Amino acid sequence: MLTKELLNKYTPVVGLEVHAQLLTNSKMYCTDQNQYGSLPNTNIGVITLGHPGTLPMVNRKAIEYGIKMGLACGCAISRHNYFARKNYFYPDLPKGYQISQDKTPLCMDGSVDIMLKDGSQHSIRLTRIHLEEDAGKSIHLDHEKDTLVDFNRAGVPLIEVVTEPDIRSSEQAYALLTEIRKLVRYLAICDGNMEEGSLRCDANISVMPKGSDTFGNKVEVKNMNSIRNVQRAIEFEIERQIMLVEKGETIVSETRTFDAIAGVTHSMRTKEDLNDYRYFPEPDIAPLHINEEWINQIKAEMPSLPQQLFRQFTQEFGLPTYDAQVLTDTKEIALYFEEMCKNTSNYKAASNWMMGPIKSYLNELTLHIKDFPLSPKQITKVIAIIDEGKMSFSAAAQKLFPELINNPQMQPIELAKQLNLLQESDLGMILPLIEEVLEQYPDKVAEYKSGRKNLIGLFMGEVMKKSRGKADPKATSKLLKEKLEA
Ligand code: ADP
Ligand code: MG
Repeated sequence: MLTKELLNKYTPVVGLEVHAQLLTNSKMYCTDQNQYGSLPNTNIGVITLGHPGTLPMVNRKAIEYGIKMGLACGCAISRHNYFARKNYFYPDLPKGYQISQDKTPLCMDGSVDIMLKDGSQHSIRLTRIHLEEDAGKSIHLDHEKDTLVDFNRAGVPLIEVVTEPDIRSSEQAYALLTEIRKLVRYLAICDGNMEEGSLRCDANISVMPKGSDTFGNKVEVKNMNSIRNVQRAIEFEIERQIMLVEKGETIVSETRTFDAIAGVTHSMRTKEDLNDYRYFPEPDIAPLHINEEWINQIKAEMPSLPQQLFRQFTQEFGLPTYDAQVLTDTKEIALYFEEMCKNTSNYKAASNWMMGPIKSYLNELTLHIKDFPLSPKQITKVIAIIDEGKMSFSAAAQKLFPELINNPQMQPIELAKQLNLLQESDLGMILPLIEEVLEQYPDKVAEYKSGRKNLIGLFMGEVMKKSRGKADPKATSKLLKEKLEA
């Protein structure tokens, strides 16, 4: 571990390259199925395998998904797209090249906004988002001395999101990747599952003396299978580089791999033996022109995005930042909450229900919100009962809520009646009880009148007891004060 002083002498610089597998039915350049988990080598036609004489064609849906991501990040969409061959040899690359985009990425510029735990906001600029195809997978089994190859993944559509070197800490990188995962999930273009490899991230990392504006040599780290591991790899790399620079050594530009168990990076290859990809225009695919009409159509179909919902929840609904963050964490939670807010204007109560009883219930049973038996409308009916003073929140959360889950078709008010949970705010019922209590404690009443105002708690408690917990506390306290101060 380096000292804080030493860490503070340097500014880390990080840029991310994020690959996301697109949730299309078929592959990027042919009709083979794009399906994770199929038996090995079952989704492999002649185009996937790169047989001579076969012709690739562009998957329209993949382009649409790429445009969606670009629009979500405020990118400029390229009207004239040319595909390019990226040549390299690898056993899992059947054609000996990937069809990618080089000079004309589908999306350019744009940015992704992040918010850190301390509330600070940062805008990370994107360089580009381009489309390409995935490679196959080499498989090394314990009992096999040969390497096996599964080509099912070959040709699966990918977008690659490349950021500018705008990231200045591992925490920012963590927040950015979380935001990108949220975006692809909201857009439903990728499942965002880093463990299964449908979302992958390479981190480019360098350090420079604080105050400098000349970036240091960068190191690229690969093979991180969770967002947390991306953060850990960046932290390790920053310290390793600072240590080298302090010793007067220069950083070699190289590709390193992250070992998640040891928490360290190892050198894979240096820049010198990096491939020269010999990019050239793909002769088998005609240039792809994207017109205004298509872009407008995609724009019209864009779902609400997390940042928009965050703004709506904080500005329009007046919710605290924390609530809005939790509520926009996943699209399904946000949509459920939005639906509740169509039926109640007590947004804070809706948020409390979502973040309290509903989340606890889901967590306890490890359920997803889509499996939650109660509709948003049912919950807002419960909120209305509480707001009318007929039931306390705690009675609703602890008694009515679990019963309602078992009887999701019942009207909450009927069930509350059945369970005898409704409070009396009916003055005709409370008033006699108050009078009884005040007659019972003449001394305390005198003390109250001479200034011991906190005796109100005693009177409240007695009235509640007599009503067997059914008197509405708000109405009771109001009426009590009126009586005592009369
Ligand atoms: P390369 O030529 O190695 O592909 P690029 O300039 O295309 O490098 O950048 C690749 C990624 O590395 C981008 O995400 C970019 O932001 C990031 N990057 C570039 N220079 C640096 C640097 N000095 N330190 C950290 N990241 C960098
Ligand atoms: Mg590059």
